[in-house]
Amino acid sequence: MSTQALLAELAAIAGERYVLRERSERLTYESDGNPLLVGAPLCTVLPAGREQAIAAVQACVRHGVAFIPRGAGTGLSGGATPTGGEVVIGMARCRRILAVDPVGCRAVVEPGVVNADLSRHVAPLGLYYAPDPSSQFACTIGGNVAENSGGAHCLKYGVTTNHVLGLEVVLADGRVVELGGAVWDASPGYDLTGLLVGSEGTMGLVSRATVRLLPQPQGIRTVLALFDDVAGASAAVSSVIAAGLLPAALEMMDRWAIRAVERGTYRVGFPEDLAASLLIEVDGPAAGLDEEAEAILTICRQSGVREVRTPSSPAERTLWWNNRKTAFGAMGKLAPSYYVQDGVIPRSRLTSVLAEVGRIADEFGLLVANVFHAGDGNLHPLLAYDDRHPGEAERVMAAGSEMLRACVAAGGTISGEHGIGLEKRDDMRALFSDADLAMMQAAHDALDPRDLATPGKVLPLPGRCVEVRRAAWDPRATLGEGAVADRSP
Ligand SMILES: Cc1cc2nc3c(=O)[nH]c(=O)nc-3n(C[C@H](O)[C@H](O)[C@H](O)COP(=O)(O)OP(=O)(O)OC[C@H]3O[C@@H](n4cnc5c(N)ncnc54)[C@H](O)[C@@H]3O)c2cc1C
Repeated sequence: MSTQALLAELAAIAGERYVLRERSERLTYESDGNPLLVGAPLCTVLPAGREQAIAAVQACVRHGVAFIPRGAGTGLSGGATPTGGEVVIGMARCRRILAVDPVGCRAVVEPGVVNADLSRHVAPLGLYYAPDPSSQFACTIGGNVAENSGGAHCLKYGVTTNHVLGLEVVLADGRVVELGGAVWDASPGYDLTGLLVGSEGTMGLVSRATVRLLPQPQGIRTVLALFDDVAGASAAVSSVIAAGLLPAALEMMDRWAIRAVERGTYRVGFPEDLAASLLIEVDGPAAGLDEEAEAILTICRQSGVREVRTPSSPAERTLWWNNRKTAFGAMGKLAPSYYVQDGVIPRSRLTSVLAEVGRIADEFGLLVANVFHAGDGNLHPLLAYDDRHPGEAERVMAAGSEMLRACVAAGGTISGEHGIGLEKRDDMRALFSDADLAMMQAAHDALDPRDLATPGKVLPLPGRCVEVRRAAWDPRATLGEGAVADRSP
């Protein structure tokens, strides 16, 4: 069967104007939020609703052409990036909220529903959808399911997998299956819902999801703690957890991240010389919340905090959160481009691994800012660079890879929430044995033996060669001498 025949079938399914073939139309679909990885699709099809999405997968399967489901393209590991010639199935028009059950606390949604829109939709019922990636105003539930996404408030409430009850999936042979159900943890047999969550589109396209909704907490207390050294902030993180407190969120920014957000849109008035900040939130039944907040303030003081603040109004709390959640984008105020890494370490190793991250950045001549989910030990080093210089991409990726190895050496892992995608598939060898990887491959091949669903992602390919070049853009020239060496905690 010919490519032309497939394109004609896709046009019959979604409509001619929703099959994008021209380079100018499909440019957006050549990469996700990781601009270092780019590839050309055969075309992009934009189905309206799950029925059309299912038909689009089935057409690809009949023609033996690979397909890539795509949500909002905010992924950071190249998951939705084509490797050459796939049909990208953009889910942005599959955005119906199909049912809300306020008594059973669940919703049934199409995968293109934007994360924050779901919480907004159910807010009048006193409910919300808990996983809250910082990209939640753009990213989709389908992308969240595929990446098993986390977020600032996942320390207490768990990541996406803890909130998915059931999935409808179009497999890579075109069959449509229902996994899980409408009730939490009550599906007998193998946990295939668990297998699909986090499979990054490599086992089929999620065409419908049933998710848990939670009652909005009765009360919230927020604390902003300002530190003169990273060690003090890290000690406070460990002490909060050791004291048996479980904040909903425990977020850290270091010196350069603070400098970036203070040049961005949402400024909270951090002092220019600050070394670290912690944004801590507790929530739940109103009784006891003030005591929890007080205990956290005491721990911060015992850890040498310079200043603690509590918000004077809900608007101020929102400003603090907007400041934190736009930290990645604010990096544009420091450098022409940035590359974000995503590793996990035991919380007790925060100080030493952050120092190692800084050492690696120095070695590669890069400026690094850290903004991360400290409570989960989920690091996000942001490497500043200039993508207009040839060789920069390889340099930052090589530095990022070395940072991941430092996380693994500290007893951690290579991704907390951004997934493996194309970016880290070769780093999988740093973490898993051949036997581990063979089992993952077998699970994949059982569902997609022809490798039609998002091919070339997650599982490593044999051999890899990254050429590391010298810095072409020197952050010192733009941001001053301290940009590389000034990491002192
Ligand atoms: C500024 C910024 C902040 C971020 N903060 C966070 C954060 O706090 N926590 C976090 O976890 N992530 C974060 N991310 C990463 C990203 O937003 C998440 O991975 C998100 O879940 C991706 O959703 P998406 O809809 O954009 O998916 P895409 O990027 O479009 O796709 C991601 C992967 O999901 C697959 N996929 C998409 N839809 C489907 C479907 N229907 N069926 C099967 N597979 C599918 C794709 O094939 C791809 O492999 C952030 C990204 C940015 C840019």
